[in-house]
Amino acid sequence: PDSPEPTEEKHGLLGRILGQEGEARRVLDDEMLERLEDVLIQSDMGVDTAARVTANIAEGRFGKRISTAELRQALADEIARIMGPVARPLPLYPQKPQVVLVVGVNGSGKTTTIGKLASQFKAAGKKVVIAAGDTFRAAAVEQLQVWGNRAGVPVLTAPEGSDPASLAFDALTQAQQDGADLLMIDTAGRLQNRQDLMEELAKIVRVIRKKDPTAPHNTILVLDATTGQNAVAQVEIFRKIADVSGLVMTKLDGTAKGGVLVSLADKFGLPIHAIGVGEQIDDLSPFDPDEFARALVG
Ligand code: GDP
Repeated sequence: PDSPEPTEEKHGLLGRILGQEGEARRVLDDEMLERLEDVLIQSDMGVDTAARVTANIAEGRFGKRISTAELRQALADEIARIMGPVARPLPLYPQKPQVVLVVGVNGSGKTTTIGKLASQFKAAGKKVVIAAGDTFRAAAVEQLQVWGNRAGVPVLTAPEGSDPASLAFDALTQAQQDGADLLMIDTAGRLQNRQDLMEELAKIVRVIRKKDPTAPHNTILVLDATTGQNAVAQVEIFRKIADVSGLVMTKLDGTAKGGVLVSLADKFGLPIHAIGVGEQIDDLSPFDPDEFARALVG
């Protein structure tokens, strides 16, 4: 039997689907499926993914009576099923140093994420070096130095306006000499001039491969979850200009826009290495598909 639900639970997808009469057991009919699909689209799941999720929910249940609890469970299961395969922490390789290129538009949370990751790896006993590859933004370099200090990790910089590829090369040389486990290279995020950015990233890759033909071992794209479906467009763009191997989703604290993650998983299947859940150094969590699904459904 259905039990009354606490009102705060109405803020998730489920509350928005069921509206005021949340507790009633009802027939899963076309009208309800339409409402479901609309709410999924509003949550930034994207039209295709919302349609697929709705169809899967309907399967075997259409025309039958369904309780709130059953619908909640079905929706959470469906979302967790899509998200399960992409929940993968950053893989660690035996290569020393493992070279991690970090890409993404300005403001997405690259600097913060690099600082948080550096802190986590350092806590795990890894020797980490950061290269401030966004050499055209003095503020970005300064900000990265602040994060490096917080994490207790050296940040290698170059004079403003100098060639990011040459900094990356020097940083890799130094990281090799120091016996570092991990080199994280920040990059510029100016999408206004996509051609320039593409050439800059390609040059970084070309140059570091002179020192280590297997590098970079990961190319992480940092995405701001609050930008909704815009994040989908960013994946499409960055996959054209870099060999993106995984994602970090930032700003998942306090956003109802989490649906975009389902869309990304469904469309691209790229691993989600971690999620940003705040502005502090410890606010980076592994991605947990079940917890995510439960929170999204509400
Ligand atoms: P960058 O330009 O891509 O390097 O972005 P920053 O790392 O400078 O981050 C841009 C803004 O987003 C800053 O104000 C950060 O504090 C904030 N930010 C980054 N990650 C998160 C997160 O997970 N949660 C929240 N709430 N804010 C974040």
